[in-house]
Amino acid sequence: MRLRVLGSNGTYPTPGRPCSGYLIESGDTLVMLDAGPGTLVGLQEAGGVARLSALVLTHAHPDHCADAFSLFNLLRLGPDPRAGLPAFGPEGLADGLARFLGAGEDHSFHRTFAWRTVGRSDGVRVGDLEISFGLTHHQVPTLAAAFAAGGRKLVYSADTGPGGDLPTLAAGADLLLCEATLQGEEGATGWPYHLSAAGAGALARQAGAARLLVTHLSPILDPERSVAEAAAVFGGPVAWAAPGLEVEV
Ligand SMILES: [Zn+2]
Ligand SMILES: [Zn+2]
Repeated sequence: MRLRVLGSNGTYPTPGRPCSGYLIESGDTLVMLDAGPGTLVGLQEAGGVARLSALVLTHAHPDHCADAFSLFNLLRLGPDPRAGLPAFGPEGLADGLARFLGAGEDHSFHRTFAWRTVGRSDGVRVGDLEISFGLTHHQVPTLAAAFAAGGRKLVYSADTGPGGDLPTLAAGADLLLCEATLQGEEGATGWPYHLSAAGAGALARQAGAARLLVTHLSPILDPERSVAEAAAVFGGPVAWAAPGLEVEV
């Protein structure tokens, strides 16, 4: 299994740093995980459009799904039009996107993507990948996702505060891709819907994860400091999910 980071900024993109989006690949299977602003460019640079097996959108915040509209246009109007791309999201997400487009029941949005709502304890198979979902502690319905293939396990937190299903889902992960929006002591900001780098490190340690990638950093923070804060608590290898980074899981 292979992870490629298309973007990892929390909240808004900055030059050279798109928001959340990842490619997860195993054999011929290629899944786009979140589609934050700027990530569609990286998908095309990776030659991923024609090979895409499925789209997973974790939640309806724009920094995770805004480029789904661009992907819709590309799939429909691009050089190799295609329909019926399997797409997974939490309760209400597909309806919310459709509402934004003013898309009625017969709109091409519903044919371009084959939407399926998933939630706590749901699992799906996409080609080589087994994907298990949980719900996180966030302002809107949000999926955490575990990807398994060839005896390896990659877990993505999406956005979450402490709690929710992530700690259970992350158990024994070979790679934990975990949000670390904040710095300083966990809970110091009083903001309950995101983790600090130290919080991500603690979660990785409790889950017995082999490696930690911190992601969804606030664009105003220094990634090196976030990595140091997470590593101090985790005690294992930590890196920042820099755009373009590729990791063999
Ligand atoms: Zn976010
Ligand atoms: Zn969010």
